[in-house]
Parts: sequence; structure tokens; C-alpha cells
Amino acid sequence: MSLVSRLTMAISLRMAPLSSPLHSKWPSASTRHPYVGLIRRSLVVKASGEFANENREFVIVGGGNAAGYAARTFVEHGMADGKLCIVSKEAFAPYERPTLTKGYLFPTDKKPARLPGFHTCVGTGGERQTPDWYKEHGIEVLYQDPVVGVDSHAQTLTTSSGKLLKYGSLIISTGCSATRLPEKSGGSLPGVHYIRDVSDADSLVSSLERAQKVVVIGGGYIGMEVAAATAGWNLDTTIIFPEEHLMPRLFTSSLAQRYEELYRKNGTKFLKGVLIDKLEAGADGRVATVKLRNGNMIEADTVIVGIGAKPVVGPFEMVGLNSTVGGIQVDSLFRTSIPGVFAIGDVAAFPLKIYDRMARVEHVDHARKSAQHCVRTLLTAHTQPYDYLPYFYSRVFEYEGSTRKVWWQFYGDNVGDTIEVGNFDPKIATFWLDSENRLKGVLLESGSPEEFELLPQLARRQPVINRAKLEGAHSVEAALEMAKNSMQFGSTV
Ligand SMILES: Cc1cc2nc3c(=O)[nH]c(=O)nc-3n(C[C@H](O)[C@H](O)[C@H](O)COP(=O)(O)OP(=O)(O)OC[C@H]3O[C@@H](n4cnc5c(N)ncnc54)[C@H](O)[C@@H]3O)c2cc1C
Repeated sequence: MSLVSRLTMAISLRMAPLSSPLHSKWPSASTRHPYVGLIRRSLVVKASGEFANENREFVIVGGGNAAGYAARTFVEHGMADGKLCIVSKEAFAPYERPTLTKGYLFPTDKKPARLPGFHTCVGTGGERQTPDWYKEHGIEVLYQDPVVGVDSHAQTLTTSSGKLLKYGSLIISTGCSATRLPEKSGGSLPGVHYIRDVSDADSLVSSLERAQKVVVIGGGYIGMEVAAATAGWNLDTTIIFPEEHLMPRLFTSSLAQRYEELYRKNGTKFLKGVLIDKLEAGADGRVATVKLRNGNMIEADTVIVGIGAKPVVGPFEMVGLNSTVGGIQVDSLFRTSIPGVFAIGDVAAFPLKIYDRMARVEHVDHARKSAQHCVRTLLTAHTQPYDYLPYFYSRVFEYEGSTRKVWWQFYGDNVGDTIEVGNFDPKIATFWLDSENRLKGVLLESGSPEEFELLPQLARRQPVINRAKLEGAHSVEAALEMAKNSMQFGSTV
């Protein structure tokens, strides 16, 4: 099953019919413009002052990646000033979260990224939205005051400090939280780290400054990125995971082997196909040993756990959850089952139009695009359904002095047979072809900007490829050229 499929398992592989109980609460985009509802709800809000001490036209819950891009879109439409409030659990204005396992973890003498350098929306070349930017645009940001309760009839939110906030329209962008090892398995011992926000990253950096033996649990994105970072710190690093190779949800074993060789050259050790029994503390109470189910013990003074993430749906369960992919169920305009309440980013389970299934995508590109799409829908006559093309990327070993930088991008769906072209010196590409030789997905390592630009076109057009010719391609450049030329014969999806 593909990465996209597994991440985003379908509800019976299709959207619920419009007559289903879930959709019956949603006015159709063609019969009711969302802004009509918005105006009505705003008026209701202003007329029912007894419910709240303050009224806000638009409230975004969660001050993460999606919130930053949503705020920018409100500003672009002239609808932020005095109208928009962001309620954040964190102490910082929204930032580009992927930096936390990349530039943020560069060794301290190699110019690590620090705030305010990576506030949104720098990740897409936009303005850097510092806390002052929000003030200048009249956006209220409540820091370190998570929402703990919601009353959708009264249209109020309660925060942990006890504030009662009245909203006209609500956007939920609470993201995900890192999956933890159980406390009884040592998952909360000092020296054991999870990485989701700046305070997690700061705590990890302070451990790395004293670390000698590091164990990274998990061979996915987080594990790969953190292990590359600790190699940069010249720390004795072992990466442990139960699968046969790195990034099993996306990489073929042959591709993973290339990356694993590179990690080994950088001093990383691998323990594959093994399960963790528990983490044990030393005399000082700090983690000292990782005990495996096979009885083996590995010494570690710092452990980083990267075993996945869970959507943060609380306290919004009542807006309707998706039982298959998890998260908050929305339609193609990010509307939940409750009028005037929207969900975006990692937490939203949305119809993935291109593959006709429900999806939840935990990647920054979707966080940005879903935010922009949702706010445009809320504020304008824009009623085009969201039509997302899955895109994943990673970049590692980018610190100064690294002998080999890694930068790959993937677009599409990793289903069907794979054809690998290139020798990783530096380029390599994997093409996924279905039984009719239609190109479904493509991954490229170390491409040029023009080559990376071609990938989404290929994944969206899904051209029929001459399989034998692709297998015989003598270089990545030749393979991409062949795929590009095939587009004139392929269908547009
Ligand atoms: C370390 C790391 C590296 C990553 N690297 C990549 C990468 O290389 N490529 C990629 O595509 N994606 C990457 N991602 C994923 C990407 O960062 C997410 O997809 C993106 O941040 C999702 O945006 P979001 O706004 O939905 O959620 P988030 O950015 O997680 O923001 C959610 C915010 O809501 C807050 N919150 C939660 N509950 C409440 C509440 N009740 N009240 C108020 N606030 C609340 C949280 O504290 C958080 O600030 C990475 C993620 C992490 C953690």
C-alpha cells in the first residue's frame, strides 16, 4: 500500500455521499455561499453579548504553520485588522516547523537556525511574520493559552487561563502531537526527547551539548533528520527501527540502501528489524540504556523518539471526526459539520480529489495550501474544491562542511511497480508505474530546480510511459526528459 494510502487511508476509498448524515449538515457550495453564513453568524455573535466578555469575528485555534499562512491570507484580503485572533499554545508566533529537525539542529558552531529567522511565511519566500507583524496588522495573538473548551451553540471558546472568547467563524489548526513511548516503558525519562515544537528542540539541543551516545528510535522523517543532525555533531549515533530499511512507507529498499550507506559513512550505526522493550534509567535517574525485545542493551545518554504523530482533535471532537484516517472531518472547502467551523493542516481529514479518497496529510505544503484555500473560501466567492497533489520532501546533511547534502522531493502516489534510474552520484530517481504504465509518482534526489519543477506536472498528468525505455535510461536527466516527452500522450487528471 502506498505512503499516501497508508497515511490517508480512505473511508471506503471515497467520500461519503452528499446525502450521508455527515454531509447533510453541510450546505452545498453551489446553493449557499460560505460568506453568507459567515455574515449571518457574525450578526448572531454581536447580538448575543451575554455569552461572552469579548467578540471576535475570526478565531484561529493553534498558532502553527497553517495558522501563519492563514493569517497572511486574511491580511491579503484586508480582513485581519481588528477582526482576527490567533489562540496559541506556544510562546512563539507561527513558524516553519520543518526547520526544527533541519537547520535548528545544526551544531552550535555551524550557524543553526533560530527564531525570528524562520517565522512563517519565509518557507515560501514570503514576508517574515514576527510578533510585530501581527501587531502591525491588527491581529491579536494569545500566546501560551491553549483552548480547553468549546461551545459551538454559544460560539465560545474557553482557554486554559479562563478566558471566554466569542467567535464568528472558527478555524481549527491544532496540528499533531508526537507519539510517545509509554511512561512505564521509560518514555518520559530525562534525556528522552520528542520533537514537535521549539521548546522540544531547545531541550534536545541542550542534551546534545552534553551527549556522548545517542539513540534515535524510528526510521522515518524525524529519525532520518535527527540522525543526520547528530552525525553533524560527531556524536556516536545508533538508529533503531522495526522495519527492514529507512523510510519504508516511501523508499524502495534499493533507494533506502543508498541513504543508509551515506549515513554509515557519516558514522551512524543501524539496528534494523528490532523492537524496543523499554528505556532504563541510570543511577542519576537519566536514561542510560535502551533495552530491546531480543534482550540486547544499547547504552544511551540521549534518546530521540520519532515514531509518528497523532492529530490533536481535543477539545473539538463534537465537530465530527474521521474514524479511518483520524482527525477532523471536513469537505473540499475545509468546512466541518458545524456551519462556520473549519479545520486545516495536519488535523483536517479532507477529500483528496485526485485519488478519490479521504486523506489526512501531515506535511507542510498541505498546511500552507489548505490554510490559503480555506481562508479564500471563507472571505470570497471562491468555491473551487481543494485539489491537492501529495508532495513530500526532506533535506539533510546541509550544515557547513558536510561532504554530501541530501535533498529529495516526491510527488504523487507511490503505487505500482518501481523503476530506479541513477547512481546517487549525486542524482537518483524512482518512478512508480501502474499496470497500464501510467506514471503515478516520482521521487528525485539532488535534482536541479527545473527538474524538481517537472515532478508535479508529471504526477498530475500521469503520462503513459514506455517502460522498457525508462528502464534503459542511462541517466536521471534522460529518464526525466523521456517522461516529459510522454506527457503529450498522457491524460490530464
Ligand atoms: C520536527 C518536524 C519536522 C518536520 N519536517 C517536515 C518536512 O521536512 N517536510 C514536510 O512537508 N513536513 C514536515 N513536518 C510537518 C509539518 O511541520 C506539519 O505538517 C505542519 O507544521 C502542520 O501545520 P499545522 O498548522 O497543521 O500544525 P502545527 O504546525 O503543528 O501547529 C499546530 C499548533 O497548534 C497548537 N495547539 C494544539 N492544540 C492547541 C489548543 N488546544 N489550543 C491552542 N493551540 C493548540 C500547537 O501547539 C501548535 O503550535 C515536520 C514536522 C515536525 C514536527
